[in-house]
Amino acid sequence: MIYRPLGNSGVQVSVLSMGCGHLPEDEDLCDELLRACVAAGINYFETATIYCNGQCQQKTGRGLEPVRDKVMISAKHGLLVEGEAEGQPATTGDDYRREILEKQLPALRTDHVEWLQVGWFQAYKLDALRRKGGVLEAIRQLQDEGIVDHVGCTTHDTPENVIKIIESGIFESCTMQYNLLNRAYEPALDAAGEHGVGVVVMGPLHGGMLARPEPALRSLVPNPEITTTKAGLQFVLSHPAVSTACSGMGSLAQLEENLASVLTPVAESDRAEMQAIFDRFKEVADSLCTGCNYCAPCPQGVDISRNLRIRNYLAVWGAIEAARRAYAEIEPAARAECCTQCGECEEKCPNALPVRQLLRDIANALD
Ligand code: SF4
Ligand code: SF4
Repeated sequence: MIYRPLGNSGVQVSVLSMGCGHLPEDEDLCDELLRACVAAGINYFETATIYCNGQCQQKTGRGLEPVRDKVMISAKHGLLVEGEAEGQPATTGDDYRREILEKQLPALRTDHVEWLQVGWFQAYKLDALRRKGGVLEAIRQLQDEGIVDHVGCTTHDTPENVIKIIESGIFESCTMQYNLLNRAYEPALDAAGEHGVGVVVMGPLHGGMLARPEPALRSLVPNPEITTTKAGLQFVLSHPAVSTACSGMGSLAQLEENLASVLTPVAESDRAEMQAIFDRFKEVADSLCTGCNYCAPCPQGVDISRNLRIRNYLAVWGAIEAARRAYAEIEPAARAECCTQCGECEEKCPNALPVRQLLRDIANALD
């Protein structure tokens, strides 16, 4: 295994880490997979209560119990702020502490975790996080008691807001998306590198899309010696701010393929070809909507990012039936066909996407 510093935390993390969101149903297979990860030198396991139909932490805890001293486990819990969810109060420091001590640690069969992630975090919650008697105070107390070693966050916020989160100085690591088909977070990666915040990349294979490529994607990697998985993982790890690619592996076969992809160095003779692959994917990535929502609101009520997410499926997967189903689930008044082609959204799109044309294409293909 190859290890890298996880930011300035003082911790060395394996370049391939395990996102425990797709563990096998079968208990024996699950234990075998987790222990095979450890045997391969993987030392970071990210968990959350909601993964694996609510069984993620129970499964991870059971599988890793005999090898607990060899691994870092990451627990995760988000916080609700005032008015965020109807009928649900804001999360207090006591709520947060109880969740970790009474639910997550027992499920993980451990009395401490090396990492605690403030999950699904957004920059607008920073003030609430730091409030007196709030969640950060509770986390610091858990650290003082030796129950939590390091604090990170996971986020899907916009790249600009992720930079604000990084600059807050609260977190030692930040888990964010980055892959060959989504480079929108590159400025946030750069900021993390500058501030010594370790980057854990989630979705390094774009939700598995690069591991099971449709012909359109496979054709971008014409060299039969290079798989799209290898290109995808090598791309993520080629960014100097990235500490680890956290892949949601669900089988030994996936583990083996990912290990071969990160541990077999790119041959000198393949370097130029690998760069050409990265460039070809960049062209595709630049034509995809990142879902940033900077273009919202549309004066006609079109849900632009949701419609364009479907267009992404069509462009890289050619998944017409899945796209039809997803389109039918959009409120009729928010569908692409309601676009009046005013062009307001195009002025706001940082990717300079031809939104009007793309919406026309979707409406024609799916309506
Ligand atoms: S071009 Fe269409 S989607 Fe864009 S703002 Fe105008 S009506 Fe809305
Ligand atoms: S169309 Fe552009 S601005 Fe709108 S969500 Fe997609 S990438 Fe963002």
